[in-house]
Amino acid sequence: MKAFSYQNLPTRVVFGNGALASLNAEIERLGASSALVLCTPQQRDSAEYVARLLGSRAAAIYDKAAMHVPIETAEDARQVARQVGADCCVAIGGGSTVGLGKAIAMTSSLPILAIPTTFAGSEMTPIYGITEGGLKRTGRDPRVLPKTVIYDPVLTATLPPLIAATSGMNAIAHAVEALYAQDANPIISLMAEESIRALASSLPRVVRNPADTDASSDALYGAWLAGACLGAVGMAIHHKLCHTLGGTFNLPHAEMHTIVLPHSVAYNRRATQEAMARVGRALGGVEAATGLFDLAKSLGAPMSLAEIGMPDDGLEKAARLATENPYYNPRPIEREAILELLRSAQAGRRPTVADI
Ligand code: NAD
Repeated sequence: MKAFSYQNLPTRVVFGNGALASLNAEIERLGASSALVLCTPQQRDSAEYVARLLGSRAAAIYDKAAMHVPIETAEDARQVARQVGADCCVAIGGGSTVGLGKAIAMTSSLPILAIPTTFAGSEMTPIYGITEGGLKRTGRDPRVLPKTVIYDPVLTATLPPLIAATSGMNAIAHAVEALYAQDANPIISLMAEESIRALASSLPRVVRNPADTDASSDALYGAWLAGACLGAVGMAIHHKLCHTLGGTFNLPHAEMHTIVLPHSVAYNRRATQEAMARVGRALGGVEAATGLFDLAKSLGAPMSLAEIGMPDDGLEKAARLATENPYYNPRPIEREAILELLRSAQAGRRPTVADI
């Protein structure tokens, strides 16, 4: 076995149907007594429910969380946290809401208790992102890692199928790239393979019936593992491409990950055969790139970048931006081949056996 290092990240997880009932006990365990409850405008009802559960421990609700954490929102929320004297944040929602909690924690060190309601996995990572002047800055900071995560499958029952499907594929992308990360290690690889298996087998059932809590329980378990993978090891070409496309062309995050993933995997498959074998096995014994494409398609996800707003004449720019600085990838970064990858994703073509 190759030498490796492994860092365990210290998040406490409470998991299961009805786990939200432990909210007050978990807040007490954090030594907190005054929570700022964070949500998007769309999830105000869920935040109000959480505030009612918290009773006198709810300081206020802040309901302006938005995709990619605009700096103006982050600063506004930080000020509200100070004004109401919050000593912790409770973030109920997907990656955007958890991201707002992280932005507050970055400057205040307030502990975050996260209650994820999508499968994106941000709650398990020390990675933050803040958008300023049209540019998204990301980084790692141990202060932003949520101290506690409550996974309650009942809460994903209201997820629109498109968000369930694409946030789940976003989680699979974290697990796939963890398998061929530069600092991959056997523990994270175990978690990654199990994550892909859990998500691939449950997402079709979640999309068919969002109220199937057995299915969403498996999907949340997979999302947890995927987030832990993303938090523990570095990523490669797929996350680099999505960061570039999202930042420059403002494409919707989870859809973009869903569309690009099979093509990133096709790009890397000759260079990472063991990782590919594990992805294929986790998908139920299929080839990795085509298996991911077929899974996304079966979930009713958009399949081409063109249909989510990528302009044809932006592909060359995207390929240039994604290849101008060196970074780790198992296959060397070749601009022409990356442009070809992007053309396939733009058209929504199924990776072919000829590419294998
Ligand atoms: P999201 O948080 O943007 O949510 C999408 C929409 O779905 C929102 O309107 C939200 O209110 C709604 N929603 C969420 N849960 C719902 C539910 N159960 N019922 C009904 N509506 C619900 O989407 P996301 O895919 O979870 O997160 C995407 C963001 O997370 C991106 O900005 C991405 O960069 C970030 N992210 C960060 C990390 C990290 O480690 N830092 C990891 C993954 C994603």
